[in-house]
Amino acid sequence: MDTLISVDTGDSPTKQDVLHNRWHPDIPIVSWVKPGEQFRVECVDWTGGQIKDDDSAHDIKVVDLTKVHYLSGPIGVKGAEPGDLLQVDILDVGVLASSQWGFTGIFAKENGGGFLTNHYPEARKACWGFSGIYANSRHIPGVEFAGIMHPGLIGCLPSKELLDTWNTRERALFDTNPERVPPLCALPYAETAHLGRMPAAQARAAALEAARTVPPREHGGNCDIKNLSRGSTVYFPVYVKGAGLSMGDIHFSQGDGEITFCGAIEMAGYLDIRVNLIKGGMAMYGVQNPIFQPSPLEPRYSNYLIFEGISVDEEGKQHYLDVHVAYRQACLNAIAYLKKFGFSGAQAYAILGTAPVEGRISGIVDIPNACATLALPTDIFKFDIRPSGVPPRRMIPAGIDLSTAG
Ligand code: ZN
Repeated sequence: MDTLISVDTGDSPTKQDVLHNRWHPDIPIVSWVKPGEQFRVECVDWTGGQIKDDDSAHDIKVVDLTKVHYLSGPIGVKGAEPGDLLQVDILDVGVLASSQWGFTGIFAKENGGGFLTNHYPEARKACWGFSGIYANSRHIPGVEFAGIMHPGLIGCLPSKELLDTWNTRERALFDTNPERVPPLCALPYAETAHLGRMPAAQARAAALEAARTVPPREHGGNCDIKNLSRGSTVYFPVYVKGAGLSMGDIHFSQGDGEITFCGAIEMAGYLDIRVNLIKGGMAMYGVQNPIFQPSPLEPRYSNYLIFEGISVDEEGKQHYLDVHVAYRQACLNAIAYLKKFGFSGAQAYAILGTAPVEGRISGIVDIPNACATLALPTDIFKFDIRPSGVPPRRMIPAGIDLSTAG
């Protein structure tokens, strides 16, 4: 496989012009390919090397989230025009020889937060080692699971109109509660914008409006779908000439929802990609957001313990069919259960974010409660976690936990 984009994980991402950390239609294409071509794209980890393989969560606590995500690209596809669908076959995903480890962070509430930030407001970190297809962590004994490597973030450049739409609607949301911690959304932030090869004078203006990479949007982007794994095929809407495909935020593994926010096993890595075009595909198939076909290869876990959650919050307040509340309750229920086996709450939270956990909206019509479920594969544990009638024993050595900020 020819390497189209290579990165240096030991160098500052801002010095690498094949990387960018914002979305803007004018970010210059770094390399052109033809439909049918296949090629390798290397990616730095999403933070651009801010997190280290050590036993302190200080780096998580002070991480500069205005710099993320560092993406490789954009890649131009000859002949691509607005309205086309770009077919992207994710042929393979792998670990870089220069960076054979990964991390999971629980962000501090005042710097990023996470799905359960009110319960786990402090910065914590787990580092992961890779044994072939398996992931294990010195900070979370008792679990090992097969990874399902995928790009957390992949998509095409927006048009100017689409960018303006994003900025308008996100600003309107932000303005409803500008003081909120964590904020309601991440608005453009010029100071740390890296726009690849865009000339400095042009970049100064573009940085003021370039969209942050945090949310998923119409073009895909930061969807964090664990099933966009090696062997899957994704169909992306094209908005600009040449499509401008960019990618990054590679995960070794992730549970549905990526709940700790830095919640997958984050790593630098490579993606082997093949591109093709479906001319006029957006109108032909009525496509507004990407669609994809999953891989024939996936970890085969078939035994699960499934936790239910309903849309009644921690204070007992009734919410109307609120899936966000319901999934949070399912997660909290799973954590309470795992703690009975000796996991700390932070360890259990990290397991739910990283292991191949299946999250589902199970019921969304039975007023007033939505029902969400979280399916935890039981075979990832080195001991039996099923209810047996015998009180669970502490299986995790005391004194081992996620790293703290100290
Ligand atoms: Zn990620």
